[in-house]
Amino acid sequence: LGEDVGVKYITKQDVLNNISIIKIADEFGIKLSPAFSGNFDLRCRCPSQEHKSGNERTESLYIDSQENNFYCFGCSSGSSVIDFYMSCADLDFKSAMADLRKRVDPKKAKGGRFVQKNNNFSILLDISSMFRETMLSNPRDLKWISTIMKRSDDYIVDIDSSDIKKAKQLKDKINSVLKDRYSK
Ligand SMILES: [Zn+2]
Repeated sequence: LGEDVGVKYITKQDVLNNISIIKIADEFGIKLSPAFSGNFDLRCRCPSQEHKSGNERTESLYIDSQENNFYCFGCSSGSSVIDFYMSCADLDFKSAMADLRKRVDPKKAKGGRFVQKNNNFSILLDISSMFRETMLSNPRDLKWISTIMKRSDDYIVDIDSSDIKKAKQLKDKINSVLKDRYSK
C-alpha cells in the first residue's frame, strides 16, 4: 500500500527525469543503431502506429540518449520518453502516464538521471506543421515543397538540439520562402 500511495506523487517531470527511452525501446524489442547527427547518438525504426503502417524501412527516428529525447524525421514526432512510450504501446497520454508512473521508484524520483535542458523540438514541430499546411493548401506544388522540405531536413540534422537560435532562424527563413511563393 505504501508504494501505491507514493506513486500518486510521481509527477510528469519525475517520469521524464527517470525513465530512459533506451529502456523502453529495449522492452518493446526495438533495435537501436548508432547515429552521429548533432546530439543524436542512436536511431531506430519509428514505433508510431501511423508511421509503421507505411511500412517504414529506414531508421528515421533519432534519439539523444543523454538528454533522453527523440525526433522522428519520417513523421515529425517527438520528443519525450512519454511520447515514445505512447507510440510503442499505442496509448493515449493519460494511460501512458499511469503506466510510466508505476516504473518510477518514489524514493528515488527526485534524484532523476535526466535533467531536461531547453531543446528546439517545439520549433522543429512548428516547421513540420508549416510544411504540412502548405502541402494541404497547395497540392499541385508538392514537388517544389518536397525539395524545400528535404533541404530543411538536411539542415536540421546538423543543428544541435539545444540550438534554439538556429532553429528559429530556419523557421523564419522557411516562413519567408513560403510567403514569397504563395502570397501574391
Ligand atoms: Zn515516425
